[in-house]
Amino acid sequence: EKAEWAKLKDAATITADGKHFDIAANIGTPKDLTGVIANGAEAIGLYRTEFLYMDSAELPTEEDQFEAYKEVLEGMAGKPVVVRTMDIGGDKHLPYLPLPEEMNPFLGYRAIRISLDRQDIFRTQLRALLRASAFGQLRIMFPMIGTLQEFRKAKAILLEEMDKLKAEGVDYDANVQVGIMMEVPAAAVLADQFAKEVDFFSIGTNDLIQYTMAADRGNDRVSYLYQPYNPSILRLIKYVIDSAHKEGKWVGMCGEAAGDPVMTPLLMGMGLDEYSMSATSILKVRSLMKHLNTEELKSLVDQAVNVSLTNDDNKKLVSEFVEAH
Ligand code: PEP
Ligand code: MG
Repeated sequence: EKAEWAKLKDAATITADGKHFDIAANIGTPKDLTGVIANGAEAIGLYRTEFLYMDSAELPTEEDQFEAYKEVLEGMAGKPVVVRTMDIGGDKHLPYLPLPEEMNPFLGYRAIRISLDRQDIFRTQLRALLRASAFGQLRIMFPMIGTLQEFRKAKAILLEEMDKLKAEGVDYDANVQVGIMMEVPAAAVLADQFAKEVDFFSIGTNDLIQYTMAADRGNDRVSYLYQPYNPSILRLIKYVIDSAHKEGKWVGMCGEAAGDPVMTPLLMGMGLDEYSMSATSILKVRSLMKHLNTEELKSLVDQAVNVSLTNDDNKKLVSEFVEAH
């Protein structure tokens, strides 16, 4: 098995019926590039920039950020790199940015909510990103978007920063794609509307499941609810994918479910375009995809979204299908 995987390192991800999907990697720092390249990722689907802020004693400067983003873009040599703007709050804190004590930090002041409030921090990050965009194929992604207004505001700020750079004569990619994490159920329900305005979605199942099931992603007592195989979650994912495709936009997934071999056949059947996972899962998933036929998977999806099925029913359904093929 390992020998077969090694052969797939430099191969494109092609299914048994000749469809191409992108397998991408999630990273937290430029140091992670080594593993990404060793495992043959076709892109970076999620660069969690908050580590840049967490590993620093003070707010990282525009220059510090520019260097880190440029290193990743150059390291990927023209392959797409999705960089997510700062996702601080929830369980991630910064010593130099005291956040208010909150009853429910995961439902509170975090991610894009902080960025839109602290525009000084946000604009510095966007400038660093735009400057780095001249060195590769950058895609900018906003986390925790819940309303269309939040997206429009964030994008308007980005466009303002582009105008400033242009006036200064600084190079950047004016066609940089701008997308959102699909991780707040309110946004997923309005995916048809969002799809008209964004360039792409990346489904963040870690938070999407937590918020949809009202089940803490780190609490063992409710882990029976915190599962991607629930028909409710599968339907929501399918709706997000269908909505994007209707508008000609691409959809990725960067939550843990993207690298879960039980989810792979279902996501392929739904037509998910990009699968972003930890680098160590890439070859296993690429190998699985090579053996599956997307047309056959459509009926599997039809069965899995049936409301009467439990998580375990769906796990069994998929593993029986995979074994039979
Ligand atoms: C997610 O919510 O699925 C996600 C990828 O983001 P994070 O795990 O960083 O919250
Ligand atoms: Mg998240």
